[in-house]
Amino acid sequence: MQNQFYTIGTFLQERFGVRVVKLSIDGGFTCPNRDGSLSWGGCSFCSPHGSGELASSIPDQIRLLSEKWPDSRYLAYFQCHTNTYAPLAVLKEKFEAALSWPGVVGLVVATRPDCLPDEVLDYLEELNQRTFLWVELGLQTIHEGTADRINRCYPLPVYDDAVKNLASRGIRIVTHLIFGLPGETREQMLQSVDYVCDGPIFGIKFHMLNLVRGSALAETVPDYVSFQNMEDYVDLAAEAILRVPPGITIHRITGDVPRKLLISPEWSYQKRTILNSINKRLAEKKKNGGLVGY
Ligand code: SF4
Repeated sequence: MQNQFYTIGTFLQERFGVRVVKLSIDGGFTCPNRDGSLSWGGCSFCSPHGSGELASSIPDQIRLLSEKWPDSRYLAYFQCHTNTYAPLAVLKEKFEAALSWPGVVGLVVATRPDCLPDEVLDYLEELNQRTFLWVELGLQTIHEGTADRINRCYPLPVYDDAVKNLASRGIRIVTHLIFGLPGETREQMLQSVDYVCDGPIFGIKFHMLNLVRGSALAETVPDYVSFQNMEDYVDLAAEAILRVPPGITIHRITGDVPRKLLISPEWSYQKRTILNSINKRLAEKKKNGGLVGY
């Protein structure tokens, strides 16, 4: 079923005129929430790979993807852990090497908002002037009580400052939220959507909390389930999309965890089914006049 919202895929197709695919890269970084600088355990939902389960080498990914889509271009997506948490010289070496591969037309850098010192912001600003770039900020929630429960280890004003600093340099921002964090109500999740969409963001990504093997949450609450059934999540995701202004790109609305690592929700690996169900729900709302701007 056709997407009923403004996907990043559509944006990239319009911008580059060809299919643009993200290469998932493990740059070998760690995270201040894991190396003892802030904490040892990491955010409670975070897998030991720091969301990098799908990462592999750049040439391997380009070779496989070019067999399937010969004309495609690529964004080097530094996805694992905190990808600005290293000396500037290290960042430069890794980012420039990724950009030098044929077909790579830009960079995506996932990080924490408290890991963007001025010298890194200056470098990102310079990068942004010569290549296509966005920075992903893992916020997950605007609510401090939830942030404490998941051991995020920074307060909301730190996110606000990072957004202000990136936006003032003209750098695109994508904010990452997670629905179904421990103790959060549906209303609180939607408040997070409203809050981040009120800022100068380029994109948003959200998904249900996936309980993964090896995470702190799986150790402490092994039977945790973020959404008891797919329908509950589909309904929330459709409501969240309705609140995203039409100009903001939507990057992800389902989880992306390898099945062997997934504990719950057990239906979460059915990405195509979830996506179709959300689109169907949105199409119904559109038909009923509830979907303004799409
Ligand atoms: S989610 Fe991000 S900030 Fe939290 S522990 Fe994992 S890599 Fe670090």
